[in-house]
This record gives sequence, structure tokens and C-alpha cells, in this order.
Amino acid sequence: MNSHGAETVYKRADCILHDGPVNPSGYGLTKYEGRTRKAHVAAVLAGGRKIPKGWHVHHACGVKLCVNPEHLRILSPVEHSRTHAPEALPTLRHVRLAASMTLKELARLSGIHKAIISQIERGRMNATRTEIEAFDEALGCRFESRALLVNTEER
Ligand SMILES: [Zn+2]
Ligand SMILES: [Zn+2]
Repeated sequence: MNSHGAETVYKRADCILHDGPVNPSGYGLTKYEGRTRKAHVAAVLAGGRKIPKGWHVHHACGVKLCVNPEHLRILSPVEHSRTHAPEALPTLRHVRLAASMTLKELARLSGIHKAIISQIERGRMNATRTEIEAFDEALGCRFESRALLVNTEER
């Protein structure tokens, strides 16, 4: 158990993890200029970048707690929803179980570390495009697994 009351989040290379309060969706919270902001949003603002009104901050690495400015992209809502997919689509866990595949088997077939798959399934991490392609390949289906990228709070 770490300070977030959960096991350590699997980190991708170069991710810098927020260490502090976390909201129920898994995003870090921090005080920035007197108000509570999502930690990744504060990281972008602290780096001097401007976020146009209504635009979102997207994690290119998929790690919700990451505050490395190099992993954060400022996207318009339209660009952001192109990157993510509609929420109604199935989750990775759902599709994996429907395919009667264990986490370990999916890890072996996709070449994606099972710690990452586990974090994605539990909503702690968003899948990258490369991973989604690997999952589609491994699961032998094209279930538009971009759904795995979904989260509505990453902004
Ligand atoms: Zn990162
Ligand atoms: Zn995003």
C-alpha cells in the first residue's frame, strides 16, 4: 500500500507519478493557484502552456497519475474524442473474458506486460494505440478496443 491506499501504479518509462490525493476516477488532485485542479492539468499550466477554454489535457502515456509534461497533450474536445472512443464499447476485461482468455494468456499473446493489462482493466491506466492494436491482434477481433482509452475526466 502506498499513500494512495492502493498498490503502486505500474509506470511506463519516464512517467512521473503524482504523489498526493487521487480522485475516485484515478486522477491526481493538487492545489494550483489557490484552487484544486487535476494534477496533470496543473502540470501543464505550471509549465507555462495555456489550455484554451474547453480544451482537454490528454495523457499520451495512458498513465492517469503521470504528471510528466512531455506526456501531456492539449487537445480540442473533438481531437480528444477521436483519440478516445464512445463509452458504450466493451472494456478489455469484458472482451478477454468473453474470449475465455486469462490475463496471463493475453499478456503472452499480445506481448503487453500483464501488470499493464491489469491496470488497464481496473481503469488505472488508459491503453495506448499500440497496445490496442496488440490486444485486437491477440483477441482475434476488432472490437474497437479504443474504448479502452475512454475516460471522461482526463481534462
Ligand atoms: Zn507518463
Ligand atoms: Zn485523453
